[in-house]
Amino acid sequence: MKTLSVIGSTGSIGVQTLQVAAERGYRVAGLAAGRSADALEQQILQVRPRVAALYDETAGKVLAQKLKGVCDTQILWGEAGVCAVAALEESDLVVNAAVGISGLRPTVAALEAGKNLALANKESLVCAGDIVNALATEKGLAILPVDSEHNAIFQCLQGSREEEVERLIITASGGPFFGKKAHEIADMGPKEALKHPSWSMGAKITVDSSTMMNKGFEMIEAMHLFHVRPEQIDVVVHRESIVHSLVEFRDGSVLAQLSPPDMRLPIQYAVDYPARQYAPRKRLDLPALAKLTFFAPDEETFPAMKLCREVMERGGNLGAAVNGANEVAVAAFLAGKIPFGKIYPTVELAARSVPFLQSPTLEDIFETDRLVRAAATSML
Ligand code: MG
Repeated sequence: MKTLSVIGSTGSIGVQTLQVAAERGYRVAGLAAGRSADALEQQILQVRPRVAALYDETAGKVLAQKLKGVCDTQILWGEAGVCAVAALEESDLVVNAAVGISGLRPTVAALEAGKNLALANKESLVCAGDIVNALATEKGLAILPVDSEHNAIFQCLQGSREEEVERLIITASGGPFFGKKAHEIADMGPKEALKHPSWSMGAKITVDSSTMMNKGFEMIEAMHLFHVRPEQIDVVVHRESIVHSLVEFRDGSVLAQLSPPDMRLPIQYAVDYPARQYAPRKRLDLPALAKLTFFAPDEETFPAMKLCREVMERGGNLGAAVNGANEVAVAAFLAGKIPFGKIYPTVELAARSVPFLQSPTLEDIFETDRLVRAAATSML
């Protein structure tokens, strides 16, 4: 029986992780959430973890008072509280499903405490991939990908050697604006951007999927997870979200991982790894699907992917700059302050306004994040 800590437990991936843990009979020792106090309270009463934390300090203190005498769970708050959950002594595996750069400190805290990581927080690698990888290597720990594409690649790579891999092919749904041109979508608002064709996800990642920034981030994530060069990573648009990604080997053979879209599958594979266990999920019905389609991505209409290729080439603090600017721009878009067409220009301009550092420390990464947020905010 494994013992887990779940960071970002009230988000879409966090909730599904708790479902998988319940199905598999895993113990959950720690839960951490950002601001959703009511949802966290419900989870605490259901799961009864030893420790739980809320990133929001005020709400965390209120929750601690409220649960005093009601249950034995120790309630913490703030960044330190969330990091304490990531470092809990009794957990075998930390599932980090936080959204944004707020997941980076818990990632570092988990690795420093010697915990293997099931990583859904792609921003940890986008912002600080070199630092996170170096720490995992130093401690001899595994970073198991939960992101469906990377989990698919990870599955395809089982039993192969690094030098046998020629190319990683990441599939993209194309988001709700697939096939549209820039002028047709410039004025779109959150309602249109949140209509994802195949996956039901949180609002932030759904918007990132509509700009293709999510796919750009996933290329960066793949480079760090699988130790490949930028030119070994390709993206193909696949509207049906059945093929979750592919690996091409040096003999020309291509392996793919297929399943109906359901995040519980990659979550379970990461949590159960290296075992593969029974799961009560919908099975693939190929005749019912009849056909699967593939298209080249439109990098002119969705330039976020080009910017992320530059991040892969240049490294340094550019990933943190792009991510921080994107977090601000997407929040402004979701709040109705800017239209769709203003997201990308804001991100690029703000990201380029921050001084480039080739070998940033972890604190440089957080400073870059602060600077780029101020720059992006001033542009709105
Ligand atoms: Mg993904």
